[in-house]
Amino acid sequence: MRYVIYARKSTEEDDRQVLSIEAQITELKEFAAKEKLEIVASLCEAKTAKEPGRTKFAEMLEFIEKGKAEGILSWHPDRLARNSVDGGKIIHMVDCGFIKSLRFPSFWFEPTPQGLFMLNIAFGQSKYFVDNLRENVKRGLRQKIRNGVWPGWAPVGYLNNPKTRAIDVDEKKTPKVRKLFELYAKGDQTLYSLANWCKENKLKSNNEKELRVGAIHKILQNIFYIGLMKFNGEIHEGKHKPIISKKLFDKCQEVLSKRGKVQEVRKHHFAFLGLMKCKSCGCSITGERQKGHNYYRCTKKKGLCQEKHYLREESLVDQMQNFLQKVSLSSLDTEKVLFELEKEEILAKEQSKITVQNLKVKLEEITKQLEKLLDVYLNEIITTEEYTLRKQKLINEKMEISEQIKDFEQNGLSWLEPAREFVLSLAKAEKLKKSEDHSEILTFLKNIGSNHYLQNRKWHFEAKIPYNLVAARGGANSQNLTFPIWCPRSDSNRHAFYGICS
Ligand SMILES: [Zn+2]
Repeated sequence: MRYVIYARKSTEEDDRQVLSIEAQITELKEFAAKEKLEIVASLCEAKTAKEPGRTKFAEMLEFIEKGKAEGILSWHPDRLARNSVDGGKIIHMVDCGFIKSLRFPSFWFEPTPQGLFMLNIAFGQSKYFVDNLRENVKRGLRQKIRNGVWPGWAPVGYLNNPKTRAIDVDEKKTPKVRKLFELYAKGDQTLYSLANWCKENKLKSNNEKELRVGAIHKILQNIFYIGLMKFNGEIHEGKHKPIISKKLFDKCQEVLSKRGKVQEVRKHHFAFLGLMKCKSCGCSITGERQKGHNYYRCTKKKGLCQEKHYLREESLVDQMQNFLQKVSLSSLDTEKVLFELEKEEILAKEQSKITVQNLKVKLEEITKQLEKLLDVYLNEIITTEEYTLRKQKLINEKMEISEQIKDFEQNGLSWLEPAREFVLSLAKAEKLKKSEDHSEILTFLKNIGSNHYLQNRKWHFEAKIPYNLVAARGGANSQNLTFPIWCPRSDSNRHAFYGICS
């Protein structure tokens, strides 16, 4: 994925805490290098984001619309959009699929409860931006579907039209896609032979990747080709032109289901099929039954692979349950932590109320001082320079306090719900660590991590934050979960800064 760096700093006083443009660029470039992000352009702007009409901003959007980049890397969401017009533009471009990634070095974001939790901790200010973005994207997607326009990337054989936002037929690829269906409908081709056919006939995906078995399987089942769209499990009529007849499509489904049956049965027996990849060669892991036991091994589809070992399913489940043990929380401890969270909630609410009250009193005082200052100035007791200087100082204070009030009022308790969900998921792990329900274990592990792989009879995976931290600490209990897992950095900041202590 290619990224554009966007840096901005305005001359306004409420922007004074922000890094200089040079510093933003340097930090962003370092971040990009660390994260291995490909940067294709850097744009900086010395204007405010509160009013629409920034030229570099427009340039950046155009750049992305032309397909020269798919992601934006910026210091903070508020660098990108503080007015609804520009925010809307970004949202719209995410919606249309032009922007596939938004990255900010100071936090990562995933739309899971835990992701939201971490985000809320990391940021107060941008919460509304990101929340709205997510909601608007969903809303936008639904609207597009209702209008008969596919909101995502066009499947091979079609193209996204960046101007009309519609999906056009790709005249070059369409005949080959049609041929693919025709070949498969005959019933004497396998998905592998079709993959080879694609290679020989240079039919590639829209991002120029080779079409492998999985992709071909998806193509053959995609009702998009007959003019329909499936979204959230529901079928809608599309406005795009069908390129496959219903008859040909149905014929392919028939062949698929006949061939698929063998696989279905196999899948039923191997609960963890499709989860792991081989560490040595990256191939998928397949299942094999021997002497009444299930084994998992590398498919070795890419040729040579050093992995010689088979992993017995019982051993795999053991390893998984061992991990679950590390992120599980007993029901007694769960109750304790939830109770603590509730107490925290009440306390935080009270405290933020008091704090807001005090801040408002301060704000009033400053307003009065400003009035007095003006009187003094008008009576020519102080010089213009002195007046400007003192006024500036008071206005700065006023802004700071207003912002603090906003923080307390808006973001005071936003971390609590995700925190609760996190605790409940640890309780779920407790139940699963003794469970025989392999599919539930699978779902849970998929939710809390990724990159499952197999190496030398060992199962590995990358657990997400904060599960990885809990696991690294060797287990959760009510002591280490309340404190230090959620430990306030200081009493005055407890509304916002609940973090994980390492
Ligand atoms: Zn392998």
